[in-house]
Amino acid sequence: MADWTTDDAEDLYRIQRWGDGYFGIGADGNLLALPNVGEHEVPIALRDVVDELREQNVQFPVVMRFHDILKNRVRQLNEAFAEAIAEYEFQAPYRGVYPIKVNQMREVVDEIVEAGRPYHYGLEAGSKSELLAVLQYDTGEEALTICNGYKDEDFLRLALLGRKLGRKVVVVIEKFSEIEPLLRLAAEMDVQPVIGLRIKMRVKTEGRWSKSSGDLAKFGLTTSEILNAIVLIQERGYGDAIRLLHFHIGSQLSDIRFVREAVQEAARIYARLVKRGIPLAYLDIGGGLAVDYDGSQSSGHSSMNYTMSDYANGVVSGVKQICDLEAVPHPTLVSESGRAITAHHSCVVMQVVGEIVNDANPIGIEPVDGEHIIVTNMRDLLVNLAEDQNYQDVYNETTLLMEDALSAFKLGILGLEELARSETIYWRLIRAVTQGLKEEEFVSEDLRHIESPLHSQYLCNFSLFQSAADIWAIQQILPVAPISRLNEAPSRNCTLADITCDSDGHIVQFIGEQGSQATLPLHNLVKGENYYLGLFLTGAYQDVIGDMHNLFGRLNEAHIFCDPEDPTGFYIEEYVSGSSAGQVLEVMQYNPLAMARQVKAMVDRTVARGQLRSREGVKLVDFYEACLGNYTYLRQPASNGAP
Ligand SMILES: *Cc1c(COP(=O)(O)O)cnc(C)c1O
Repeated sequence: MADWTTDDAEDLYRIQRWGDGYFGIGADGNLLALPNVGEHEVPIALRDVVDELREQNVQFPVVMRFHDILKNRVRQLNEAFAEAIAEYEFQAPYRGVYPIKVNQMREVVDEIVEAGRPYHYGLEAGSKSELLAVLQYDTGEEALTICNGYKDEDFLRLALLGRKLGRKVVVVIEKFSEIEPLLRLAAEMDVQPVIGLRIKMRVKTEGRWSKSSGDLAKFGLTTSEILNAIVLIQERGYGDAIRLLHFHIGSQLSDIRFVREAVQEAARIYARLVKRGIPLAYLDIGGGLAVDYDGSQSSGHSSMNYTMSDYANGVVSGVKQICDLEAVPHPTLVSESGRAITAHHSCVVMQVVGEIVNDANPIGIEPVDGEHIIVTNMRDLLVNLAEDQNYQDVYNETTLLMEDALSAFKLGILGLEELARSETIYWRLIRAVTQGLKEEEFVSEDLRHIESPLHSQYLCNFSLFQSAADIWAIQQILPVAPISRLNEAPSRNCTLADITCDSDGHIVQFIGEQGSQATLPLHNLVKGENYYLGLFLTGAYQDVIGDMHNLFGRLNEAHIFCDPEDPTGFYIEEYVSGSSAGQVLEVMQYNPLAMARQVKAMVDRTVARGQLRSREGVKLVDFYEACLGNYTYLRQPASNGAP
């Protein structure tokens, strides 16, 4: 292991593979962010950012946002479509929109709007609140504003308000019953709507979002509903307003086959409707452009078997082929890619605050008078282990004896102390066998798994439910890697536990050779040194769908920009403070001021009873109030680290 290099670290953590060019490893073993990939590379060592944050007394965990990655993603997507359009001589432009539900943070949307301006890149809203946010952005006259999701009259009115301001706001009809109120309000407000129709697609996808298409899909109009909708809209005199055809068959489409099939289906419907004289001009292919979370470039759930260029080429060539066959003009292409725009730009950096070890504080196991034979037998096994090299036998015997010990305890035959001694001997045996097996050439299938109860559980100062809900909710795999020491061989196989009181609050699935593996090799913790892990590709959905389980609130954030002139390559433009305990309590209807008053009243009563000195009472109240203003995560001493 002495000859471990950063190449070995790359093989293990696959940083370049999932990093898509935005992350890499420096010669000094530091994990680097490379936000300006392909243009002007400015490597930023995450460790340097951590040091600067610590200097500023910013507490961890911290969300690091690399704004240059966001800009780069917007450029890449738009350029990919522009190149495909040029290559296939497609006769209409691309006018993408960013669906803000993927990450509604103002700073994120600001950046996307700015980067998208040269491309007339627009925004998509799926609810009233999102539309309120979208309407305050001036995305320019050419850019689209697309309204998806179920709509009440206020939602429709807001969309029409946008039309009054001269914006290209498209109301996508998800449900037949939305047509009547839309047309009524348009007449009432005296404004011409732009109408889109969402198709309920037939194409069957695989993966976690497969319910977004097919007969049971929640959204969209069937073929007959589309025909009826058109008749209804035309009868009401708004036939000219039908301009866009929309579909969305699900997120994270890992297999490009589904993109191609969906595009074929939709392009054919588009062409046939145009031939019936419907003035459609836009084909909106929804979201679905995937992110290669595990870097395997496969059609697995956490991966994708195509590139962004393949996607753009597939869409452009697919639509062109059908339109040319049907002899209809090419539509302006719209996509609503969210995940692929935002996933890479943010990561959560957290500290390992300790290790949970089975039987870390064992009891003495010397023989005692009158001890039960089970305990004696277990001890003999341990004592004789040096001579007895048949680990399989020892292992079998060990597990049998431990089962006996437990049964005997339940029947009242073994005392509490004897059970404790059995457990301690058990763990020593398991460790000894595991150690011995490392020297064996052949290890049986049974024994291969015995290490699993022995892996280390690293306790990390974060909440899975706040920062990476999809790991819990849909077994999403996100990349995890240490942000330094990558030039050093890891020596522990670990799972990660968060600090919530929920046993689901852990990460037990990592990127591995065959898709995933149960543990992640990490470095040993060194006393007096901080050990930080990065949880990557959290910018899409994870950033915003987190919840306050156990009242752990939003994270402190650092907004990082490249600066080639600076020796570190970056500057932090803004810190955004995460939630304080008082703020998360307010969400749950508590009033922090009143809480402090209540506690003060209790302290006063205790003082009045003579059970507490006044001076001490004041200090206790001050401390309580200070805690209400503090960060919700574990407070780490300035330098420390490992236990
Ligand atoms: C969620 C959603 C998107 C975004 O999908 P991604 O896969 O994240 O790109 C786009 N359009 C609609 C209608 C959606 O519901």
